[in-house]
Amino acid sequence: MKKVLWSFLIMVLALGLFSAGGRAAVTGDATDSQGTKVQEKTAGQTKTNDNNNSDNNKTTEKKETNLKKQKTVFVAAGHQRRGISAHERYAPKGSGTKAKLTSGTAGVRTHIPEYKTNLAIAKALQKELEKRGYKVIMLRTTNNCPLSNQQRTKKANKSGADIHICIHCDSAGSGSSGPHTCVPASSKYVGKKIYNKSCKLANLVLSSTAKAVGKKSRGAIRSNYYTTINWAKIPTFILECGYLSNPREDKQLNSKSYQKKLAKGIANGVDKYFNIKGN
Ligand SMILES: [Zn+2]
Repeated sequence: MKKVLWSFLIMVLALGLFSAGGRAAVTGDATDSQGTKVQEKTAGQTKTNDNNNSDNNKTTEKKETNLKKQKTVFVAAGHQRRGISAHERYAPKGSGTKAKLTSGTAGVRTHIPEYKTNLAIAKALQKELEKRGYKVIMLRTTNNCPLSNQQRTKKANKSGADIHICIHCDSAGSGSSGPHTCVPASSKYVGKKIYNKSCKLANLVLSSTAKAVGKKSRGAIRSNYYTTINWAKIPTFILECGYLSNPREDKQLNSKSYQKKLAKGIANGVDKYFNIKGN
C-alpha cells in the first residue's frame, strides 16, 4: 500500500513538474522572444536617452519644425524657349483675351534670355525652400514648357500647393533696379480670400527679397490684367527679381551668388507668411 502511495505521489510530482516545465518551456519561449524584443527596444531607448539626450531633443524639435513647415510651394519660372501668340481669355469671367505666352526679355549685357534667368533663380529657390523643409513643385525644370499662362496657373491650382510664386525679370530703362511684385488690383477675379493672401504674401516676399539683395523695393504693380494671377485659386503673385535692361543688374541676376541671395530672401518671406496663423 505504501509502495503504491509513494508511486502515486512520485507520479503526481513528476506530472506536476513535467507540466510546469512544459508550461515554463512554452511561456519561456514566448517570453524569450518578446522579452528580447522589449529589451532591445529598452536598450535602444535608454541608449538614446542617456547618450544622445540633447541630440534627441534637437531631432524632436527639428521634426516639429518640419511638421509646422510641411507646406507646399509651387515655383513657376516665367516664359520658356518661345512665346505662344495665339490668344486665351485672361480672366475666368469676361471675354477679354491676351497672348497665351509672351517670350520675355533678355539681358542687355549678358544677352541671356529671361526664361533662362528665371529658371536659374527658380532652381535656386527650390533648393533653398527644400533645405528649410518645404515641399516644392516646379512648373518647369527645363526651358521647354509650352503651356499658356492660363494652363500654368491651372496646373498650380491643381497641384495641391499652398502658394504659387511666379519668377520673372523685368525690362525698362538702364537705370532701373531692384525687385517689385505684380498682384491683383482687386478681388474681382480671384475672390476676397485669395486677393488678401496674395497681397500679403507678395508684400512679405518683396521686402525680404529687397533686404537680402541690398536693394530698394520698388513696390507692387496692382493690376487685374495678369492671366497668371486672374485664374488663381491659391495665393499667387509675380516676383520681378530685377531689371535685365540694367547692365549691372543683368550681370547680378545671372550670377549664382546673387541668385542664392534672391532665393534666401524669397524663402525668408515665405517663412514669415506661413508663420502667420491661418496661412
Ligand atoms: Zn517675364
